[in-house]
Amino acid sequence: MAHDGTNRVFAEQGTDAKALFAEMDAITAGDQRWDDPKNLKASYWAGDDVVAVMHQAYARHIDDNAIYGASLFPSLMRYEAEVVAMALDMLEAPEGAAGGITTGGTESILMAVRTARDWGRVHRPGALAPEIILPETAHPAFEKAAQVVGMTVVRMKDSPGWRADPAAMEAAIGENTVMLVASAPPYPYGIVDPITEIAALARSHGLWMHVDGCIGGFLLPFLHELGEPVPPFDFRVDGVDSISADLHKFGYSGRGASLLLLRDGANEIHQRFSSDAWPSGTYSTLNFGGSRNGGAIASSWAVMRYLGRAGYRERVASVVATKRAIAEGLAADGRLTVLGKPQGANICIVSDGLDMVAIAEGLDERGWLTGRLQRPSGLLFLITPRHAGIVDALLADLLAVADDVASGRRTAAGSQAVYVG
Ligand SMILES: *Cc1c(COP(=O)(O)O)cnc(C)c1O
Repeated sequence: MAHDGTNRVFAEQGTDAKALFAEMDAITAGDQRWDDPKNLKASYWAGDDVVAVMHQAYARHIDDNAIYGASLFPSLMRYEAEVVAMALDMLEAPEGAAGGITTGGTESILMAVRTARDWGRVHRPGALAPEIILPETAHPAFEKAAQVVGMTVVRMKDSPGWRADPAAMEAAIGENTVMLVASAPPYPYGIVDPITEIAALARSHGLWMHVDGCIGGFLLPFLHELGEPVPPFDFRVDGVDSISADLHKFGYSGRGASLLLLRDGANEIHQRFSSDAWPSGTYSTLNFGGSRNGGAIASSWAVMRYLGRAGYRERVASVVATKRAIAEGLAADGRLTVLGKPQGANICIVSDGLDMVAIAEGLDERGWLTGRLQRPSGLLFLITPRHAGIVDALLADLLAVADDVASGRRTAAGSQAVYVG
């Protein structure tokens, strides 16, 4: 959120380190701890040991810049290649697939959109004003990306059964359509879109299909291995051209790492930017950004190697157990319910009769950090391994606040869902 700051002058003299860090202690006094168990917004915590490995690996390479990977830091190129290979294996990619590490889901999506646009210039030459068809629930990063690369977004209005609507998407396909998107799962509801149907549309109409697995890419494969019902979402689905998966979410890396993976590595020519127009020689990157912190890349590699598939699977099992316990506790009470049958770790809590804004405000007062949902009005909990021990306390507070709202002791002051960075 915008902050006016306090020191408004760039002082002539520097500040000594001791005083500086004391000042930082004071400045951070109002912050939440990211790994507070009451943080149900975004605490991608996989265990103190995992966090320690992530920090150590990050710190080792915090000074290294991956843009000099080829000349100065072959280690970073190796980490990146191995992270990509492990992720392609996890997402069942065929021979010939490729990918790279970006700085986050937004950049993965930006590069997917840019790749689809340039692919479309070759494969959809009639699309003179190229369009992307998005489910209602797709992440706003697609609109951001479309603005940047000069494409138009056609966003669907409904999500029947809280999933993307392939029939509506098909009806929206026209001569300018280049790209279809589905999410596995989308952030708002945590319910995987009908990827197979949408990918079939992409194939039959000759379109680029991107699966946004930013939040689910490192979750759904392990759910599947645990025998939980997961609809097909990865490269096993014919017609899926690219997948984004965030390392810095359920990959548990340090902040600043995501993957963009392509079924056919030959399409990297549509993603890569190269220029030798300036006096310093060839400049060539797969990403929008130039410099990339080696720490984010190294920490991704270290955590994947440290945990192995078994480690990820155990943590997903913990998420499943926590989700189940919350749903059962709410079902026993009867006034609040989990929306649909989310496969994701992001679950929505809604009610037929109670004002969910008032309930959200009550939980805020009790120290919980929860996300909000506008359509329908609800709460959004992001369950991670951090929350294995909080179910009883969460249910007790949720039901106590529900009592207050039901009896009229609490009414909404009128806050709403905001994501302001
Ligand atoms: C988090 C998320 C994004 C954006 O990722 P950032 O890392 O915040 O840029 C995109 N799509 C989905 C489904 C997400 O959950």
